[in-house]
Amino acid sequence: METEKNMEKIVIRELGRKFPRKTNSWLRRAITRFRENSVSQLNENTWIVKGNPRLGDKYPNYMVRFKDGRYYCTCFESSWGSRRKSDVCTHVAAVILYREYSRLMEPIYAAVISMECLGDYYLDVLDSEVNVIKQVKTLNNNNIMPKYRVTYIITSNDPKTTKIRYVCNEEIKEEEVVLSLTKKYVIETTRDQANYE
Ligand SMILES: [Zn+2]
Repeated sequence: METEKNMEKIVIRELGRKFPRKTNSWLRRAITRFRENSVSQLNENTWIVKGNPRLGDKYPNYMVRFKDGRYYCTCFESSWGSRRKSDVCTHVAAVILYREYSRLMEPIYAAVISMECLGDYYLDVLDSEVNVIKQVKTLNNNNIMPKYRVTYIITSNDPKTTKIRYVCNEEIKEEEVVLSLTKKYVIETTRDQANYE
């Protein structure tokens, strides 16, 4: 449950970032739709959003489509269509929340390698089929002997064991790393923490 709350926070924060000029009421309506599970997916680029009279909906259902990089909602075709067309309605916003939430729930195989290194560091993943996210944070202000925290997140869509070779604190090491099953949100949270900590 804790997890779901955290994920909800992540997707809501993302929506706020994507649409910084939207009002709190817009955001609240989008969140209400999302929390009431009113979004269901019809096919790859089409979703149905249940209408909610308390949010001003006149129809029982709205259809949201994603085409050529933008969303279209059937409420655009209503009497306020011309005004709304240039806007992102809260049906679309609910679909964005739903999609992002579903994406974060997808399984992924991952390993996190974090090390503190004095001076030069280097890591090589000896497998071209994995993705590597690298993050570096400087831990001191020493120009002659800088200290870094280096975090590598290795991910793959398939189970994998991968070999890494790294240099840290003037040592060269080689290791086998097993990517274990997790969810995408765990990786995103780890990445956020490495960034802001
Ligand atoms: Zn709409």
